Amino acid sequence: MSARARRRRRGGPSSEPRERIGHEAPGVIRHGPPLSITCSCGRKTSVSFGTSWTCESCGRSWDTSRIPRSEYDQIRRVQIRFRALPVTLGLLVVTIAAFFTLTGNASGVVLLLPVALLSWFLMRPAHRRRYERAIAKRHNWTLRGEP
Ligand SMILES: [Zn+2]
Repeated sequence: MSARARRRRRGGPSSEPRERIGHEAPGVIRHGPPLSITCSCGRKTSVSFGTSWTCESCGRSWDTSRIPRSEYDQIRRVQIRFRALPVTLGLLVVTIAAFFTLTGNASGVVLLLPVALLSWFLMRPAHRRRYERAIAKRHNWTLRGEP
């Protein structure tokens, strides 16, 4: 029995936190990238657009719904544009694998998958850097913290 199956049996599926792949917070795809808030006292956090956060240290509250929706949507568009590349590559690999399978060329699939994975493994750091640069140069907002 795997560790995962044991955990599930002990706590039940609802008590098990969903496993995350990579570094992204939950809801990034549906709700957009998180916004980083640095409080006047120096404390930092990340929240989703439209939510407010109250600093645990000094009690100031920060409302991200004051950020213009149109400016945040520009960031979302950048995020979606950068998501398109891995999705397109994945679909391309699946299409080529289906072609190889349907033409009876199973050895092509055996060769395709490691080549595709290695290519993405090599491309991914540069892709991520470009994405982070594109997001970072978009906007910085100065909100007013409510005491
Ligand atoms: Zn604070």
